[in-house]
Parts: sequence; C-alpha cells; structure tokens
Amino acid sequence: MIEENVKRLLGEVGENPFGEKVTLVAAVKTQTVEDINCAIAAGITDIGDNHVQEFRDKYDGIAGNPRRHFIGHLQLNKVKYLIGKTDLYQSVDRFELAEELSKRSERAGVTSRCLIQINIGNEESKGGFEYEEGLEACRKIAAMPALKVKGLMAMLPFTDDEDVLRPLAKKMRALFERLRDGHEGAEYLSMGMSGDWKLCVECGSNMVRLGTSIFGPRKYD
Ligand SMILES: *Cc1c(COP(=O)(O)O)cnc(C)c1O
Repeated sequence: MIEENVKRLLGEVGENPFGEKVTLVAAVKTQTVEDINCAIAAGITDIGDNHVQEFRDKYDGIAGNPRRHFIGHLQLNKVKYLIGKTDLYQSVDRFELAEELSKRSERAGVTSRCLIQINIGNEESKGGFEYEEGLEACRKIAAMPALKVKGLMAMLPFTDDEDVLRPLAKKMRALFERLRDGHEGAEYLSMGMSGDWKLCVECGSNMVRLGTSIFGPRKYD
C-alpha cells in the first residue's frame, strides 16, 4: 500500500507550471520506523517530522539516509536536540526561534537551512509571520550568523473551497518570487498537504508535505 502510494505520488508531483521540480516530503508523524523505511525503499528521499520526541526516537532506525526536515511548531528548549541532524527547518515561525537556531548552530559549528513560515490565512490556530511582514522577517533572519534562508513555508486554511485556497496559494507564490529576486539562496516554496497539494503545485509550490496520501489516515496526531 505505502509502496504503491509513493510510486504513484512520485510520478504525479512532477514539475510545477514554472518548470521547477517538486520535492515530495513524507510527513511521518505517528508512523512506525518500518512504515517510514518502506516509503524510503519505494523512493522517498525527504522525510519531515513535527514532534521532537518522535524525531529522536526514530532517528537511528531510519534507513537509506533521507534528508530530514522538521515541519512542526518547535519549542525553544528542544532546538538543541535537532541541531546538526536536520537538513531543513521548515517552520521558522518567530524571531525567538530563529535566534535560538542560529545561536545553537553557531556553537555547534554548523549552518542550518530554514524556511520562513507565513501565516497566509491569518489564522489564530497557525503559527508564522504575517504576510506583510514576511520579507522583512526573511531579511532579518538571513542576517543571523549560522542560518541560511532557503525559502518559504505555508499551510493553507482547512477548507475545500478552491475560491478561498487558490488566491492564497498564488499570493504565496508572489511573495516567494519577491524573496527570490533579492535573495539568491531562496529555492523552496513548501506548500501543500494531502488535501490541497495539487492546487498548491498548480499555483507554484515546489515542495509538498504528504502524510495521509502516503500512509493512510493517522490513528492519532
Ligand atoms: C501532518 C502534516 C502534514 C501532512 O498532512 P497530511 O494531510 O496527512 O498530508 C504536512 N505539513 C505539516 C506541517 C504537518 O504537520
């Protein structure tokens, strides 16, 4: 099941309309090491965790050396467990987190790559910088010593209404292009989950984070 899903999805994600290859990140929260390794064996190259405890518990059991992403809300006191083990911090949603990441990375002698999370739907339940302050936030964070800003991350509101989702996804693409114009390292616009990834890719996302469509419904979150 997982193997078939991965193979089908890898075939489907392809490129976005801007000719950029779309990276498929498997969102592995609540999944067992066996299932994650099955997805990797089927072709998954990038995995994303959003719980530090799970990230740590499973870390050594994961085969095949995939790129590791952290995709969830990250508490400051847990940053230390991820330093040097995370290829991309996708959800840098506040300055305090960026400062802690930079400080800890500097101390460890590593550079940490991150995406700046934008609260595109202006939702209270979601983290991230406001759209209007997004570029300024990127500039400030890119100036921190041990961080590299690689792009933007967003989660669209939970709705099926494409008339709501599409304009927001397009706004994110516009912001990403403005960031990229002034900032060479910006490569990724991470936007799209199981329910909305096709729409997101159509609007210019080049990184999607899929859990349910790879592993099936989660038993708990
Ligand atoms: C769980 C999660 C996903 C994947 O969600 P699905 O709907 O299962 O594809 C993507 N991004 C983040 C930040 C997540 O926490």
